[in-house]
Amino acid sequence: SARLADLDAVRSDSLLKLIALANADSRPNKIDVGVGVYRDGQGNTPVMRAVKAAEKKLWETQDSKSYLGSKGDIAYADLLRPIVLGEHSGDERIVGVQTPGGCGALRLAIQLIARANPAARVFVGMPTWPNHVPITVGCGLEIVEYPYYDRDARRIRFDEMMAAIEGASAGDVILLHGCCHNPTGADLDADQWREVTRVIVERDLLPLVDIAYQGLGRGLDEDAAGLRGILDACDEVLVAQSCDKNFSVYRDRVGCLFIKTASREASDIAMGHVLQIAREMWSMPPDHGAAVVRTVLQDPALTADWRAELDEMRDRILRIRDKLADADPRLEYIRNQMGMFSMLPLTPEQVLQLRERDAIYMADSGRFNILGMADDAIDRFVAAVAGVIG
Ligand code: PMP
Repeated sequence: SARLADLDAVRSDSLLKLIALANADSRPNKIDVGVGVYRDGQGNTPVMRAVKAAEKKLWETQDSKSYLGSKGDIAYADLLRPIVLGEHSGDERIVGVQTPGGCGALRLAIQLIARANPAARVFVGMPTWPNHVPITVGCGLEIVEYPYYDRDARRIRFDEMMAAIEGASAGDVILLHGCCHNPTGADLDADQWREVTRVIVERDLLPLVDIAYQGLGRGLDEDAAGLRGILDACDEVLVAQSCDKNFSVYRDRVGCLFIKTASREASDIAMGHVLQIAREMWSMPPDHGAAVVRTVLQDPALTADWRAELDEMRDRILRIRDKLADADPRLEYIRNQMGMFSMLPLTPEQVLQLRERDAIYMADSGRFNILGMADDAIDRFVAAVAGVIG
C-alpha cells in the first residue's frame, strides 16, 4: 500500500530556485530581476500609505473576528465593481465574490467551468503565467496552447493567435490577460482586443479574463478597457481579479471573482456553485487584506491617496522602461510594453553568463522585472545586457 514516504519529490519551481540563488549571492552589486514584486528606487517593496492608514483604522475599530461566511467581505467585492467593471458596475447580471488572491479566483473560475462543461478546452497563450497551466489541469480541463508572443522578434504573434482561437468550438474557454501581460509585458492593442472579442462572440467562446495588474500599465480605466469591451459584447464572462499588486498586499491574498451570465438568476446559481467549491477548499477567504482594501475604498481621502501612490508606481515603471529603451536601440520594444515584466531575447547560456559574471539574476526565459534594479543600477544592467544580447 502506498505511503507518504513513497512519494516522488516534486520538481522544484525554477523561479523559486532562482530566488534562493540570488539570496545566496553576497556580491554587493547584485541585481535581482527575477522575483515579480513592485520595488521602489531603493529596492524595497513598501506598504502603501493608504494601506497602512487603513490597517491602523481597522485595528482601532474592528471589534470582532467572528466568521463572515463563505462570500467573505461583501462590501469589498461591491466597492471593487466600479474600479474593475467601470460602466458595467451596475449590471446586476454580474455577481462578485472575495477570493484568496487572483490565484483563488482563477481556481474557482476554472473549477466552475469544469462543473458546467467538463468537455470545455481552455485556450492559453504561450508564454503565460506558469500557474495557469497547473490550475487548469488540476481542475481536470484540457489545455490548448496558442502562440501569443515571439520573444526573439519582440512582438505579439497576433495572426497565429487568431488562427488558433478561430479553431475553438462553442463553449471552449479563452484565457486572456487583462493588462500588463506576465511574463512578456506585451498587451493587445484596442484593435486586437476588438478582433479577439469578435471571434469570441462569433464562435460562442467563454472568455476568462485574468486581471492582476490593473493600474500598473496605463491607468485603472485604460487597463480594463479590453475587459470592458468583452463585457459589452458577451453574455457570459469570468473575471479573475487581484488587488495584490495594485494595493501591494501580496501576502495578504486579496482577490475577487466576477461572474457574468445572461440573467441574474443564472449568475446567482453559478455563484452558488462557486461558494460550494470555495467551501471545500478554504471555507472562507482570509479577511484582513480585503478588509483593508474595503477600508481604503470606503474613505474618499484614503482612496485618493491610494490612486496617487498607484500613479507614482506606474510612473516609475514607465520611467525605467524609457530609460532602458533610450540606452540601447535593441531595447526599444520595452518602451511601449506594459507592467512589471518584459523578456530579453537571451539564450539560457547568456542568462547564466549574466548571473555568474555580472550578478544579474533573471529567469531562464529571459523574463525580467523592470523594477528589479535600484535607480543607480540601471546603467550597469543595460551595459551588461548589451554585452550579451543578440
Ligand atoms: N495572474 C497573473 C498573470 C499573475 O502574474 C499573478 C501573480 N503573479 C496572479 C494571477 C495571481 O495573483 P495573486 O498573487 O493575487 O494570487
